[in-house]
Amino acid sequence: AVIVGRRVRRRREWRRVMAVVEELEEACSTPVGRLRQVVDAMAVEMHAGLASEGGSKLKMLITFVDRLPNGSEKDTYYALDLGGTYFRVLRVQLGGDRSGILRHDVERQPIPQHLMTSTSEDLFDFIASSLQEFVQKEEGVSEASTVKKRELGFTFSFPVKQTSVSSGILIKWTKGFAIEDMVGRDVSECLQQAMSKKGLNMRVAALVNDTVGTMALGHYHDKDTVAAVIIGTGTNACYWERADAIIKCQGLLTTSGGMVINMEWGNFWSTHLPRTSYDIELDVDSPNPNDQGFEKMISGMYLGDIVRRVILRMSQEADIFGPVSPKLSEPFILRTPLMAAMHEDNSSDLREVARILNEVLGIPDVPLKVRKLVVKVCDVVTQRAARLAAAGTVGILKKIGRDGRGGVTSGRIKGGSHSKMRRTAVAIEGGLYTSYSMFREYMNEAMTEILGEDISPYVILKITEDGSGIGAALLAATYSSPGVANVQ
Ligand code: BGC
Ligand code: MG
Repeated sequence: AVIVGRRVRRRREWRRVMAVVEELEEACSTPVGRLRQVVDAMAVEMHAGLASEGGSKLKMLITFVDRLPNGSEKDTYYALDLGGTYFRVLRVQLGGDRSGILRHDVERQPIPQHLMTSTSEDLFDFIASSLQEFVQKEEGVSEASTVKKRELGFTFSFPVKQTSVSSGILIKWTKGFAIEDMVGRDVSECLQQAMSKKGLNMRVAALVNDTVGTMALGHYHDKDTVAAVIIGTGTNACYWERADAIIKCQGLLTTSGGMVINMEWGNFWSTHLPRTSYDIELDVDSPNPNDQGFEKMISGMYLGDIVRRVILRMSQEADIFGPVSPKLSEPFILRTPLMAAMHEDNSSDLREVARILNEVLGIPDVPLKVRKLVVKVCDVVTQRAARLAAAGTVGILKKIGRDGRGGVTSGRIKGGSHSKMRRTAVAIEGGLYTSYSMFREYMNEAMTEILGEDISPYVILKITEDGSGIGAALLAATYSSPGVANVQ
């Protein structure tokens, strides 16, 4: 009787755990109909954000980038890329006359955790020092002391209200950064001050969002590039908009009749988004509740933590993981790369899943059947993220008439008796897309599903490597002050 009782109890527990997973699956489901609603909502919010300041949760920020690099850029430029998990310094040599990028050097290091919540002075002193070291190494110590005006593209991947192409004010922090004294201050000025303290002679020629840098490099290589998407620690997109569609800036003068708009889509929200109790709890516990709702369902900073929360719930529901591990209650202990490793574990006994559950989450000896459930949870969370990112991307295409719908105004070129869709490229970057193949596959698949088999071949997601950094150097070149003799 005891044995039977135990078996019955086991079965009941297993059913409860299955219910957690099934409920999650249901709540995260993104059939194509729902994705189309997200597409429409994105396009509608884009209009609203362009119509008036504060007209939408989408800020639709003006960038002052009204020209994109075209290949005539030459000389050497520096770039700084700050805003995710890593911090990069770059030096880019441009050949001019379409000979392209002759050479680029990059150095990358993780941003020390304490600097993300310290003071702006600490952060910028650190950045300026790293930059100075890099410059000295690249140019040789003696050369570095000679007076030479260097120009820099500064990629700062947070919402910034630009005051010019080379200056702007931080609106708010995202992605776990929280340096209060910095909000409302001019980002370039902070850097400029830190550099002059060090005696580093360099001028910020372009202050850009990472999406804008990515768009610049994307466009440099492929003239059909109309937008850029980042899916890394955070997520965002920018695109090329006609000046007359930017209603909130009446009479905006641009040399080209257009301008890049930084959407800050991480803050997008719509009732059509499939939100779960885990998302709500994650938001409440985050340093920026009620903010960045789209980002919290999509980007690398959060996916692992959603999975952690589901495993915690499973563990609380039943005994299958043994006693509830205290580690399961530690926010962000399950980083997204580890989640990806579990998801993509191809071993027949899911060895990697077992290892991570044990070593990271403190849950030893998880039976294979349960490991499979954990993989399922990773799959559900990643698939939802990737499909929403696809819907957002198509939303942009819809806004600019490149989604192949609505006839000639919708990205079709009239060609004889039938019209033909124009080739359209979207530059894409960020660890989730570039390094997490399941995410990439799900996103590509959803693009095809939403666009349809006839249109999707014309829409290309193109990975740019280090675009956010190299692109910033290209933009520094594009907007460099005339007469400044740059580094040779
Ligand atoms: C920031 C954006 C940035 C994106 C990707 C978001 O959290 O608000 O400015 O482009 O992350 O790095
Ligand atoms: Mg980045």
